[in-house]
Amino acid sequence: MNPRLLEAAKRAMSKAVRSTFEEDVLWDHDKQAWRVLSATGSGEFYFLRINARSKRGDPWWVRLVCTCPAADSGLDVCWHKAAVALRWRRGKMPKVEEARVYGE
Ligand SMILES: [Zn+2]
Repeated sequence: MNPRLLEAAKRAMSKAVRSTFEEDVLWDHDKQAWRVLSATGSGEFYFLRINARSKRGDPWWVRLVCTCPAADSGLDVCWHKAAVALRWRRGKMPKVEEARVYGE
């Protein structure tokens, strides 16, 4: 795997560990998406869904799609994805298997 991507993933995850609070990551039942508050303080939310082109066992940055500008500019890794993945690990969010897959 691309070492730069792995490095970016590591950085995103450590940011998520440092800065994610309970209210920063929520499961939005209506949208069937995880909702993460932007870290810029704009009060904006980004929505994350399961990437239909991914499969079980793919890394979290592949498994998720995010609506943030980083994703728009083609970056695979963002800290919103890391924040959701962190929640999965801690068993506090609906898991991939329980969520509707985006694009299906
Ligand atoms: Zn994002």
